[in-house]
Amino acid sequence: MSKKLTSRKEDYSKWYNELVVKADLAENSAVRGCMVIKPYGYAIWEKIQAELDRMFKETGHQNAYFPLFVPKSLFEAEEKNAEGFAKECAIVTHYRLQSDPDKPGKLRVDPEAKLEEELIVRPTSEAIIWNTYKGWIQSYRDLPILVNQWANVVRWEMRTRLFLRTAEFLWQEGHTAHATKAEAVKEAELMNNVYATFVENFMAIPVVKGVKTDSERFAGAEETYCIEALMQDGKALQAGTSHFLGQNFAKAFDVKFTTKEGSQEYVWATSWGVSTRLMGALIMTHSDDNGLVLPPNLAPNQVVIVPIYKTQEQLQEITNLVNVIMGELRLHNITVKFDNRDTLRPGAKFAQHELQGVPLRIAIGPKDLENGTVELARRDTLTKEVIAIDNLTEKVKGLMTEIQTSLYQKALHYREAHTTEVDDFKTFKKVLEEKGGFISAHWDGTEETEAKIQELTKATIRCIPMDENTQSGDCVYTGKPSARRVLFAKAY
Ligand code: AMP
Repeated sequence: MSKKLTSRKEDYSKWYNELVVKADLAENSAVRGCMVIKPYGYAIWEKIQAELDRMFKETGHQNAYFPLFVPKSLFEAEEKNAEGFAKECAIVTHYRLQSDPDKPGKLRVDPEAKLEEELIVRPTSEAIIWNTYKGWIQSYRDLPILVNQWANVVRWEMRTRLFLRTAEFLWQEGHTAHATKAEAVKEAELMNNVYATFVENFMAIPVVKGVKTDSERFAGAEETYCIEALMQDGKALQAGTSHFLGQNFAKAFDVKFTTKEGSQEYVWATSWGVSTRLMGALIMTHSDDNGLVLPPNLAPNQVVIVPIYKTQEQLQEITNLVNVIMGELRLHNITVKFDNRDTLRPGAKFAQHELQGVPLRIAIGPKDLENGTVELARRDTLTKEVIAIDNLTEKVKGLMTEIQTSLYQKALHYREAHTTEVDDFKTFKKVLEEKGGFISAHWDGTEETEAKIQELTKATIRCIPMDENTQSGDCVYTGKPSARRVLFAKAY
């Protein structure tokens, strides 16, 4: 194994990048801003996908697939959305290459093969989908439409980071159509709640549910609901968004329906998405200086068994026992891998599994065979214990739940300790500099104040939380009246 990771204290961002690469999650590619997701990283993403997909279907949604390209005339139909994404678009202008007469062996764009209409590589799919929905919706009987798509999108990001912000990323995008405003608002809230439940219960990451301010809202939305998480370095990360789109896209694409009463009305819309950024949230919430720490729900292998042996006979005896153990564990839906590679010493295997965040390691050696024991090592606490083999399955089952819960509790404790109520701007700046985290403060509700605070401190309003804390007060910057506290933080 390669040498240790840079510590988080020394350089958090360097630690993150090294961990992603060394734990074999992803690497930079030959394409600027685009990453290669490696099999181990992709296996974790598949777990995220599988559970979300299950939850989407449970709430009545179906999957479909729409084109990668959006004709420019459709892209620009909803003006605000188009304007919001215009600066980060990849555009297809030609459809053919030809040999370059001046440079042997090289190709050039065939000037004859210019597209009549440019195609935008989707940064998000509202335009192509609402253009399609026009053909699907005539009457109230055609509603609601509850569709999700798993896809890649391209946003020409200038400053990219593996998983957190890439030019091409994988995501799901839900696009729903409804007969009433109330129903669409309910859907947008429901999906934000689905995200919150998933991220908290499955990924063990606590989140704050809220709505975005005008300046942070999705281009073309009336309201953006979001879940915000706090990373170990005190910076916030937007983990998911759900938009109430009003009738903006229905109007742009002329999607009307006949109501029960016979009148014509525009359709109400939502869209919602989470991306491979969740992988970044996972890493920056739980991992430590030894590498990745995975909650059992997301671990491709929840348990790994490492044999410790000198002779082939010992290995054989251990293997016989391991086969029984694995059968038992699998009966209880625990994923387990026997690491019997003869190319690595046990110490190197331990180091690799630690780096890759396997929740539980079991080591079995000749002494254990004699004593009827095994050694268990927990990744999250880095603690070891020797237990009787008779109790193994029950013990492992219990530990899976315990590790999952304890990771969540630890992250929640961190967030609570790093959420500070502040009432004056001097303290605001001091807390932000010295401690970081979320700052709960009053804000006068204007874009100017929000922009000024950002200019002075780099902190943005992460969300207006949807909690009970709705006491009014005075804006932390202008002293003007404020309806309620909002959450500020420096963010990824
Ligand atoms: P949006 O469509 O802007 O509301 O974004 C949907 C989801 O994708 C949110 O959870 C964002 O945090 C995430 N996201 C936005 N841009 C990127 C990017 N460049 N790389 C990865 N995830 C992103």
